[in-house]
Amino acid sequence: MIDLNNSKRVIIIGGGAAGMAASVFLAKAGCSVQLYEKNEKLGKKLYITGKGRCNFTNACAEEEFLSHVVTNPRFLYSAFAGFTNHDAIRFFEELGLRTKVERGNRAFPASDHSSDVIRALERQMRSSGVQIFLNTEVKALLAVSDDPAVLEDKEAKQTGYAVKDFSAEYSAEKTEQNMSEQRISGVRLSDGREIRGDAVIVATGGLSYPSTGSTGDGYRFAEQFSIPVTACRPSLVPLLTAEDDIPLLQGLSLKNVILSVRYGKKGKKTFSEFGEMLFTHEGISGPLVLSASAVIGSSLQESGTLPAQIDLKPALTEEQLDARILREFENGKNKALKNVIASLLPAKMRPIVMERAEITPDKPVHDITREERQRLIASIKAFSLTICAQGSYREAVITQGGVSVKAVDPKTMESKAVPGLYFIGEVLDLDAVTGGFNLQIAWSTAHAAAEAISGNSAGEW
Ligand SMILES: Cc1cc2nc3c(=O)[nH]c(=O)nc-3n(C[C@H](O)[C@H](O)[C@H](O)COP(=O)(O)OP(=O)(O)OC[C@H]3O[C@@H](n4cnc5c(N)ncnc54)[C@H](O)[C@@H]3O)c2cc1C
Repeated sequence: MIDLNNSKRVIIIGGGAAGMAASVFLAKAGCSVQLYEKNEKLGKKLYITGKGRCNFTNACAEEEFLSHVVTNPRFLYSAFAGFTNHDAIRFFEELGLRTKVERGNRAFPASDHSSDVIRALERQMRSSGVQIFLNTEVKALLAVSDDPAVLEDKEAKQTGYAVKDFSAEYSAEKTEQNMSEQRISGVRLSDGREIRGDAVIVATGGLSYPSTGSTGDGYRFAEQFSIPVTACRPSLVPLLTAEDDIPLLQGLSLKNVILSVRYGKKGKKTFSEFGEMLFTHEGISGPLVLSASAVIGSSLQESGTLPAQIDLKPALTEEQLDARILREFENGKNKALKNVIASLLPAKMRPIVMERAEITPDKPVHDITREERQRLIASIKAFSLTICAQGSYREAVITQGGVSVKAVDPKTMESKAVPGLYFIGEVLDLDAVTGGFNLQIAWSTAHAAAEAISGNSAGEW
């Protein structure tokens, strides 16, 4: 049911994925929507997603989806059920975007241009009357209170409500009771103007890629009201390694390898996945490494370093690899080791593997002992690394941590402490692995908030 006379005034802070989607849902449900974006254009981060192609969701089976969400998957259950990955594909198709699904169920615009996703959303926003304010930064949230202690300004005396800006005076002493007496009333812009609204949606993103506008403003807004924010760290990010020989491998990419990382209390958990990775000037990166970074972050912070291994020949057992090496040795009897292992390893890897196995590269293979061969096998099957840090927010795909989901209603995304205040998208303590799952978090949470605010089925796409 769509009630076009729904006159709720909704303020959205942030014109990224979540904010744009929420504005479309709300405007369709008849709300009057104002969206404030501090950048000069909408969707700056969306533009760079999926290497400019925007992997906007993952078309996996719905039952499987939440298993790809790393942090707080259960919180997402209701919002995802209300707007699934398949709803997202339908939604974009109905906005006129042709879509396609690739390997690993990754959904993209058929054009391979993220700009088409932004254009589809923006076109719908404008045609449905969303008021878009670019180059406009929200500085603080405004709240009303019926607590006589805060009935202090003129407006309060006239209306019986006090309008309060907590940005300056947020303090830890604020009592639970005080908070329960507040209701959101609007926002203050950086030029000092105050905008009134019935609901405010914080869609300000996290801290990663700050150049796109994600500078953690949403966490500060939450803290105005003592809404807890869990510790943040970069995730889906390259990892730094301690060994001196790793930078020598810079630029080398490996396919069909297994990366294993021990983490958790006393190293009891193991991340172990098959795929692609690459070496950088200070460590490792690529799909396998980004996935590992999403699960090992807190352990790494606690312990400082974590042990990792690369199996460079996962298709062969140690015995099979030994047999293969013996065959190569047999074929090149009088040759030096460095020439014989050419068929086994990429060029950049060979000197390092031989060094780690403590065998001189020029040694003729017929002089290589059994022990040396075993050391060679060990450095190929368990090429060891020490992970000593994560990359920075500048290169992190997402932020782990954020507005605590304990403080937010999972059905509506509304703050439990401050009625009328909603958090959606990456600002929440939710994150997933790569593959389109993070943008789906933005779409689903946007939809949940829009539906709750409008009181309508915002999901009829
Ligand atoms: C390089 C890269 C590639 C990625 N690729 C993918 C991918 O292919 N698939 C996928 O699922 N995910 C991908 N992600 C993650 C995905 O982009 C995010 O999860 C998603 O953009 C989060 O949406 P959001 O709306 O919550 O935040 P954002 O998209 O970050 O939007 C927040 C917006 O709020 C604005 N803002 C902030 N503070 C204020 C303020 N005070 N006043 C006004 N405006 C404000 C910002 O300028 C920004 O425009 C990628 C991320 C990066 C960095």
